[in-house]
Amino acid sequence: MIFCMNTEKEILNTDIKFLQGVGPKKAELLFSELKISTFNDMLYYFPFRYIDRTIFYKVGDISPDIPYVQLYGEIVSMRTEGKNSRAKRLVCRFVDSTGSIELVFFQGYKWLMEKIKPREKYVVFGKPSFFNSEINMVHPEIDIPDSENTNASMSNISGVYNSTEKLRNYIGNKLFVKLMFNLLNTVMHKIPETLPSYIVNKYRLLGLPEALQNIHFPRNLAALESARNRLKFDELFFIQLRVLYQRSERKQTCRGFVFKSVGKHFNHFFENNLPFQLTGAQKRVIREIRNDTGCGKQMNRLLQGDVGSGKTLVALMVMLIAADNGFQSCLMAPTEILATQHFESIQNLLAGMDIKTALLTGSTKKKERTAIHKALIEGNINILIGTHALIEDEVQFVRLGMVIIDEQHRFGVEQRAKLWKKSENPPHILVMTATPIPRTLAMTVYGDLDTSIIDELPAGRKSVKTILFNDSKRLVLFGFLREQIAAGRQVYIVYPLIKESEKMDFKDLEDGYESIVRAFPPPEYVTVAVHGKMKPAEKDISMKLFVEGKAHIMVATSVIEVGVNVPNASVMVIESAERFGLSQLHQLRGRVGRGASQSYCILMADYKLNKESKKRLELMVETNDGFKIAEEDMKMRGPGDLEGTMQSGLPFELRISDLNRDSKLLEAVRKIVENILENDPHLETEDNKVLKDFLNRQNIQKDFSKIS
Ligand code: ADP
Ligand code: MG
Repeated sequence: MIFCMNTEKEILNTDIKFLQGVGPKKAELLFSELKISTFNDMLYYFPFRYIDRTIFYKVGDISPDIPYVQLYGEIVSMRTEGKNSRAKRLVCRFVDSTGSIELVFFQGYKWLMEKIKPREKYVVFGKPSFFNSEINMVHPEIDIPDSENTNASMSNISGVYNSTEKLRNYIGNKLFVKLMFNLLNTVMHKIPETLPSYIVNKYRLLGLPEALQNIHFPRNLAALESARNRLKFDELFFIQLRVLYQRSERKQTCRGFVFKSVGKHFNHFFENNLPFQLTGAQKRVIREIRNDTGCGKQMNRLLQGDVGSGKTLVALMVMLIAADNGFQSCLMAPTEILATQHFESIQNLLAGMDIKTALLTGSTKKKERTAIHKALIEGNINILIGTHALIEDEVQFVRLGMVIIDEQHRFGVEQRAKLWKKSENPPHILVMTATPIPRTLAMTVYGDLDTSIIDELPAGRKSVKTILFNDSKRLVLFGFLREQIAAGRQVYIVYPLIKESEKMDFKDLEDGYESIVRAFPPPEYVTVAVHGKMKPAEKDISMKLFVEGKAHIMVATSVIEVGVNVPNASVMVIESAERFGLSQLHQLRGRVGRGASQSYCILMADYKLNKESKKRLELMVETNDGFKIAEEDMKMRGPGDLEGTMQSGLPFELRISDLNRDSKLLEAVRKIVENILENDPHLETEDNKVLKDFLNRQNIQKDFSKIS
């Protein structure tokens, strides 16, 4: 049995060059273009689309309500049009018994001109468009029989695989299909089942070998559907297994520091320094954290709260509980501006109290840095605030009990893991985010964290009014800004990031700054600028002027997006708003509406917007609900692209499932995994052995920190 497992595993790990028809040269290409290096990689390289050879349209039947069509006919003539290289194109006339259309190619036409032979029959697939009662198709897929073509496909439904320009020259889709056919022939009877048989039976899943066979060569549409379902199940199942197993193991093995009591620091702060009443949600979250930290387990908690909901205060009060119990804390923020602001506001809040705080960032001077390192080790700092600089190896604590990470989506998984390791026993961890994480993503990426939610804004906040303007309203805008400034308010004007390559079609910050200064001339108006390319010291000066109310207008790039808190600012103008993602817009809007006065967010957009941009901006006008916005954002852009996760990356790759479309399956699968782990927490039964083997292969126990 064991011997058999090994050979099975081995065959799937075989270098792809040994597959019949591949060889070293093609293997190299498969790797460089598609990251396929083993049999297994290839087996899990699924078609992105299928051609159903059973459904063909006639040219005469094409109508505008059919998005894609497959046609069968011949190419009767070809010509190139356009002189300069940009507009040059190949136009082919394609006919069948009912009519003719034009096929237009802007790229790869040299190759096509060599390959396409007039009067031969071709299958063409694409999106028809209608123009002056002519139908054409731009860049249709065209089935070119290549020399190595044999009829590898066994069914009428055949897979189309994503490829690259470069690879296509050596391995066209036909050949790829043929290689896949060879591969399945070679491995079909050696593909091990990954799920316990009681699961496969209970949920009537297709066996894995059969599923793989049918995803590449579907017997029919129903078989394809079952294959898809099985493979999605697998994918989501093993993510959940990893995440939930890790969580349960950690809960059992990691002893957390016990914060026995709430003591003098917390109480003093609560009675004397707290500038306002806590909201109900803040109180609830502090209680949840208090429970976690008092019970001997190690806390791993995600705190979600919309912008302006008062997360910083919660962080501070939690750090005071740590101090009451003799532990140090650190608070890590993603930008220097934000770290500095946290430091200053926390220092103010702690006025008169015996709590030692320090700020450590990339621009902390060597001498001060050394002093901080020393004070930390000697236990003379209670609360350390900073940026990535906190992660560096020289930063050593004597008793680190609480790590708080602000706007955590900005940090990669690795970085979090490093902080975790700063203490022999893992400290309690609280990650805070204002970007609401859609449920499905929370269940996967952050699946092993407990969550707390601040779902209530401090009293007296008026919700921000959002208005969509185009350039023709600029004078109206300026008039409005003057009114607001005259009423004592301050204004942000935000531009998309400065990128050399895209400077033409949108106003960048530098132009913007100049035009604002012209419209709001000094000395009556003071305008400052902040952007990512400034030196930290310059940035600080600008920030300071604005925070202290000495500047009326801050012109900035999205560096101010996260966390900055200037309650007196009441207007957020976002230039080229269509260039920002939804979550980013929501974050930016969250910079205003922090004080008692009515605030406004003005989205300046191009007057001709595409449909998708328009939809996004209208959603912003319609709602202030961060969760709704995040869900929509994920729907429109896909989770891999979700603001922030993009930077830290999904810690796994989804080949077939989709966190949006398959959210029901995901929830079901999660329940199944929870159930398995409830009945067999260490996966010790014979039935679950395949699962245990999977986890062992992944080295899960040794790598707790990967996902948390
Ligand atoms: P975020 O959750 O976006 O990090 P902050 O912690 O920056 O929000 O808080 C936003 C503003 O609300 C700050 O000015 C803070 O002092 C204020 N604030 C926090 N909690 C309360 C409260 N309970 N009542 C009134 N204002 C509060
Ligand atoms: Mg914040």
